[in-house]
Amino acid sequence: MSSWGMSTTGTLHRPPRHPGLILGLLALSQVGVAWLWWRWGWTVGAPAMLATHLTVVWATLYPRATLLCPALSRLPTDERVVWLTIDDGPSDETPAMLDLLDRHGAKATFFVVGERAQAEPAVVQAIRDRGHGIGNHSASHPDTRFWRLGPGAMEDQIGRNQSILTAITGETPRWFRSVVGMTNPFVGLSLKRHGLARVAWSARGFDGVDCEPSKVLARITRDIAPGAIVLLHEGATHGHNVAILAQLLAWLEAQGYRTVVPEPEGLRMPAVAVA
Ligand SMILES: [Zn+2]
Repeated sequence: MSSWGMSTTGTLHRPPRHPGLILGLLALSQVGVAWLWWRWGWTVGAPAMLATHLTVVWATLYPRATLLCPALSRLPTDERVVWLTIDDGPSDETPAMLDLLDRHGAKATFFVVGERAQAEPAVVQAIRDRGHGIGNHSASHPDTRFWRLGPGAMEDQIGRNQSILTAITGETPRWFRSVVGMTNPFVGLSLKRHGLARVAWSARGFDGVDCEPSKVLARITRDIAPGAIVLLHEGATHGHNVAILAQLLAWLEAQGYRTVVPEPEGLRMPAVAVA
């Protein structure tokens, strides 16, 4: 099993290499629009401007879009393994989730929010001590305005959480999860600066909004395939995130799936996902 990790994790973690390029291309596209407008008038210039702007809006708001910043959305493997990712902690539910994962011999990566981590550093240490991964999910989770943060505010969200998590765990996070999946052209600049690679997902159940665990599970399992990256949450107000994780772990076990946590320095992978 470790051969999978050895052969592929080296290429999985890819921070953006040329994040300034997309900014240059965006600027260039507007020069092109201005030229079209000058040469052909508004009947050509206005639609061209609209098209370029809609492309940027789509790439910003659509969680799976990688135009503005690359993202890993599944693991390249045919083995029955999944990567569980749990967003928005630490929360009151983290200890119960850790117990559940232990009971199933499963591992996950927790994408934690810096200011919540500062309030509960012992919980974050427990996540690490029990062998799970810790990823960066911004300093304050500005969900309504993350998409429109400028370079300075974006660096504050991403860089500050790196400092917070490094101070608590002694390890610098390597993976980043965008807030509500949105990404603007400035995300890549901070990710490159901090050696972070962005992780998206291939399976999710909209557990942040839906409070019926069985429906959430049905939506997640529909998209489970070898190498799936599963998006889960903790601490949602409906209080069912632990129940959803419990049902998912039971389902994965029944289907013969194991969990993996790809870390660049080597794969932390439990031998078998059996209780
Ligand atoms: Zn979140």
